[in-house]
Amino acid sequence: MIDLLQKVRFIKGVGPKVADRLKKIGIIIISDLIFYFPRAWLDLSKLNPISNLRVGQEVVIKAKISDIINSYTPRQRMIITRAILSDSHGQISAIWFSQPYLLQNLKKQSQWIFSGKVSYDWQQKKMVLASPIYEKDGRILPIYPETKGVTSKYLRKIIYQSTKSVTIRDFLPVDIIQEEKLLSLDNAIKQVHFPDSMKLLNQAKNRLAFDELFLIALKIQIVRLQMVQIKTFSIPTDKITLQKFTKSLPYVLTGAQRKAAWEIINDLSKNKPMNRLLEGDVGSGKTIVALMAVLNTINAGYQVAWMVPTEILANQHYNTAKKLLAGFNTKITLLTSKNRKITHSITQDPDLIIGTQALIQKGVKFSQLGLVIIDEQHRFGVEQRAKLTKNFKKIPHFLSMTATPIPRTLALSLYGDLDISILNEMPPGRKTVITKLVDPTNREKAYDFIKSHIKANRQVYVICPLIEISNKQLSTNNLFNLEKKSVKKEYEKLSKDIFPEYKIVMMHGKLRSKEKEKIMSEFKLGKIDILVSTSVIEVGIDVPNAVIMMIEDADRFGLAQLHQFRGRVGRGEKQSFCLLFTNSLSPDTNRRLKALVECNDGFKLSQKDLEIRGPGQLAGLSQSGLPDLKMAKLSDIILIEKTRRWAKIITAKGVEKFPLLANKLNEYITTGHLE
Ligand code: ADP
Ligand code: MG
Repeated sequence: MIDLLQKVRFIKGVGPKVADRLKKIGIIIISDLIFYFPRAWLDLSKLNPISNLRVGQEVVIKAKISDIINSYTPRQRMIITRAILSDSHGQISAIWFSQPYLLQNLKKQSQWIFSGKVSYDWQQKKMVLASPIYEKDGRILPIYPETKGVTSKYLRKIIYQSTKSVTIRDFLPVDIIQEEKLLSLDNAIKQVHFPDSMKLLNQAKNRLAFDELFLIALKIQIVRLQMVQIKTFSIPTDKITLQKFTKSLPYVLTGAQRKAAWEIINDLSKNKPMNRLLEGDVGSGKTIVALMAVLNTINAGYQVAWMVPTEILANQHYNTAKKLLAGFNTKITLLTSKNRKITHSITQDPDLIIGTQALIQKGVKFSQLGLVIIDEQHRFGVEQRAKLTKNFKKIPHFLSMTATPIPRTLALSLYGDLDISILNEMPPGRKTVITKLVDPTNREKAYDFIKSHIKANRQVYVICPLIEISNKQLSTNNLFNLEKKSVKKEYEKLSKDIFPEYKIVMMHGKLRSKEKEKIMSEFKLGKIDILVSTSVIEVGIDVPNAVIMMIEDADRFGLAQLHQFRGRVGRGEKQSFCLLFTNSLSPDTNRRLKALVECNDGFKLSQKDLEIRGPGQLAGLSQSGLPDLKMAKLSDIILIEKTRRWAKIITAKGVEKFPLLANKLNEYITTGHLE
């Protein structure tokens, strides 16, 4: 019997060198090893008759070795092993490279199960099995993710030894195991590595997936219960002021805006901290909804912190808020990393503070913080919220806003107790942005098109993925890099060669805040015709007179990101355009860009993105604090719901009543899986 916490070094046959390699893939102790799950399983009991084999297939055959010899390749002096394999239906050759010792094992007339890919041998003009694996019996074979020097075969061997000599104690409460008809953990681990049948393999996977989701659900439920007990300021609704505010706006609110604003303001009036996500496609008018909540909060004598991802956006919101709240006697402060120091002394004072996330993380003190708004992101999970509670005497209300929709089940598993408001209606008069994938040969035409719009006093964005091409990138001898578009190069080209008569300005993250501020306000005032920029203007920027968004090397951006860029235009009543350029020929890229051309709906696009790139890539998810899931899928709604239900039951009884579970949870939290 060996101990799960023992180092893998102590397994027979694992020397210090291999131990080092295992460490690189995160395997240090026995427990790491047995939780290193196969990436696939090969069912060696499903045999293909040799006469049915086709080139390109992955096959399993049961065959006798009719003949086997080693020979040298003439030039490379490499040893090749060739064999003739036969079953009652036919024959096929097999070939292995540089493994002369195979002859000792694969004796003539002996029978094996072989598995590999059928290739075509052009010299011999016949089919051949290239480097097939061979096994004695037709079981289900685990295939592990390999790294240099650690083969799947080797992992199989040492995992087999380890699982054989341990019994894993089950941390799940018996009730759950019985009611959900789950395998025991010990059995699940053994079956996932060395399944006795496909059915048992599936049961094992299900058990392990259950564990992953259950631990997340439990963690969230615990935080949630802590939050429920928290009381906070109830902020009364000031109808008269709100009405005065909406009347002062240059437009009428949409029905969706009105409904969302009401939901938010209603939440504020309760003495339980609000945790609400406002979802609305780019340009749907989230800012004004948030401003209503701001005004209501300030009026009741509380402060509001409004966090945004970029300084540029902070500036823009600062200006918007100042303009729209001008008649309402409010003190508004802009706080970005550059002017953080001075604000420590004045945070007692302002009603609304707008800034980057630094504003809360760096521990700025507020006297009466009633509402926190997190704009243009949804990565603000239950964890971060719990962390923030430490900074305040009373936890404020929270409103997050995002244009990247996330499915409801996902939202629940990420945030636990999140409420959602949706802006499913665009302000009236909006025209759909016309999106075109422009053929490189039509570049001149695109420039003429831009010219005609500038002549009509409209403005244009040109987006490039890079600020400049570094010397290092140039010297990598990669001709392709010379083709890449950079802000500096495009700026030079456009201002010197293409549009010398127009005002063109560069914008990127390396500029100083003051400069960025100046550029954006000049752009907003229409003093700049073309803004050549990196992705710093990706989210939030609102200049309704800008009507063309030209994106260079569009393949370098994700679908959600491209949709955000496109959302910078079409924000007024003028017809707007999004012109995509790419040098990429990859079919994947083309699928993505075509999806963008054909679809203007952010919700549908994010669904497509999910299909094309998988959930791991869903914007914002990687920063969501969710651990890597090995067995569970976030799309498995039924399992998510089951685990959520059990998490509620177990926390109601008290996790401490289940010591092994409490232990596991603790280990799970302290190993940083959720941080
Ligand atoms: P987002 O949801 O992308 O944050 P914004 O709040 O920046 O969108 O709003 C986009 C543009 O629409 C802004 O110029 C804003 O002034 C305008 N807008 C917002 N609501 C309305 C409305 N009800 N009618 C007309 N224009 C509106
Ligand atoms: Mg916005």
